[in-house]
Amino acid sequence: MSKTTRQFQTEVQQLLDLVIHSLYSNRDIFLRELISNASDAIDKVRFESHSNELLLEGNSDWKIKIIPDKTAGTLTIRDNGIGMSIAEVEENIGTIARSGTKAFMQALKDKASTDSPELIGQFGVGFYASFMVADKVTLETRKAGEPAHGCRWESIGDGSYTIEEISKEVRGTEITLHLKEEFKEYLEEWKIRSIVKKYSDYIQYPVVMDITRTETPKGVDGEDIEGAGTIEKTEEQTLNSMKAIWARPKSEVTEEEYQEFYKHISHDFENPFSTIHFSAEGTSEFKALLYIPAKKPFDMFMSDRKKGLQLYVKRVFITDHCEELIPDYLRFVKGVVDSSDLPLNVSREILQEDVQIKRIQKGLVGKVLSTLTDSKEKNFEEYVKFWKEFGPVLKEGLHFDYANKEKLQDLLLFESTSTEAGSFTSLKEYVERMPETQQEIFYITGDNRAVLETSPHLEVFRAKGYEVLFLTDPVDEWVVQSLQEYNEKKLKAVDRGDVDLDSEEEKKEKEAQQEEAKKEFSDLLSFVKSRLENSIKDVRLSKRLTDSACCLVADEYGMNANMERILKAMNQ
Ligand code: ADP
Ligand code: MG
Repeated sequence: MSKTTRQFQTEVQQLLDLVIHSLYSNRDIFLRELISNASDAIDKVRFESHSNELLLEGNSDWKIKIIPDKTAGTLTIRDNGIGMSIAEVEENIGTIARSGTKAFMQALKDKASTDSPELIGQFGVGFYASFMVADKVTLETRKAGEPAHGCRWESIGDGSYTIEEISKEVRGTEITLHLKEEFKEYLEEWKIRSIVKKYSDYIQYPVVMDITRTETPKGVDGEDIEGAGTIEKTEEQTLNSMKAIWARPKSEVTEEEYQEFYKHISHDFENPFSTIHFSAEGTSEFKALLYIPAKKPFDMFMSDRKKGLQLYVKRVFITDHCEELIPDYLRFVKGVVDSSDLPLNVSREILQEDVQIKRIQKGLVGKVLSTLTDSKEKNFEEYVKFWKEFGPVLKEGLHFDYANKEKLQDLLLFESTSTEAGSFTSLKEYVERMPETQQEIFYITGDNRAVLETSPHLEVFRAKGYEVLFLTDPVDEWVVQSLQEYNEKKLKAVDRGDVDLDSEEEKKEKEAQQEEAKKEFSDLLSFVKSRLENSIKDVRLSKRLTDSACCLVADEYGMNANMERILKAMNQ
């Protein structure tokens, strides 16, 4: 293929403009992004070589090399990872493949402001971060196992790039940044050292740089040799400690290190909501470092979203997205699991069936749920923030994880007639507030609180001083169906079937009144029924209203209005 010029996908150009003009607050991270990609690429070739040793091409001295060239004004990052074919370069570097990105760009545009750092912060810009400091980026790469097809990609970040075939003997990728005049300090040894130490210390492979020292030669006795002048000595130094962060004792890992590692694996720019680091011994031996993000990703509810945790076996990377490790309703959890029990050549099929994996999953779920319980008990305000982001996902667990029903039901939060808008109660607190006469937990479902608050169904509950939960999330219908009861108190919809809120005495009295009324109004009832025959099932005198003249009620076992709406929306 001869040299060809191509246009970036529109979103890429938008992302580029954004990166160049808005992300200036922390330019150093471009190096972290490139090192991170290099490390991912080495992970990949290592993993693939388990089943195809030829990919190694006799080159498995894993290394990420940083090459500053002051004369040329360039900074190069070279790896011997998996490399990319031409098609892969086009796909990965010219377009945005990740499904959440378009949604992200849209959200930014909707905000109509290009510099809203907190929004930008939610999304890792990866490779494109290079354009913060470089006015030209050259990428040369050659895919493992395809010695004849090297490729050079080049762009000045102006909407187009060129791509051409080249010959490249060694496998892997080499990215050269032609630094902008004002960013030449990225060629200084101290600068590179400090960025690597800060952001990439835990990277599993050596991040190296040639260091040249000027020395005065010494004689055998250690004395200076007169008139010998100085000599230059160059040696490759490793800049990072390479310690797998999850394998280190908790007490030795700083908060900053945990946060950096989170950003590395999650592609999130924000700090996590919670960090869970633990090791399990006994029937199943593993170490886990899990994170609960602070913000939900844009593609939380998209079906093609990549899920799962990173799986290592005895410090060797196995896979990025092991879905078997964590149930779907905790799909927002990020992290790493390192097992001592699984075989290194573990395959997808084995993962799905493996009892060890199931044991690990059980352990992880327990730990995540107890962390959330702790957070809810110790810092309710913080927990509410989590709940607002991930509550709707967590609720799915009630349906799918029966074994953890008890724990999950206590993690639920709802708004109610006793909370202010935007504030929440748990079921436990609800039950504690129940007056002695109240037997059941009442709820009402609908689109939003403002509408529900005006519902005539609430009148009689207000009069009684009974609290009613506002269930405004579509999945809440399934939550109550899975839950049925809490603490031996049945959950009951205020707009379904008969509501019976009275004591025995009150009942007798009202029944007498009711009989009277029935006689009195029997003509009216049959009249209304005959007029509405085709739309309703029955017309009854109601005990549930105090102010309004009438309301619609669903059968005890029928669908209520909200459920009907949901099913209609789903075209059922
Ligand atoms: P991310 O790392 O989040 O996927 P990036 O923008 O950092 O996003 O990189 C985009 C893609 O380009 C990567 O997913 C990978 O497929 C490819 N890539 C980037 N750098 C390298 C590299 N050094 N070696 C091989 N592939 C790479
Ligand atoms: Mg990346």
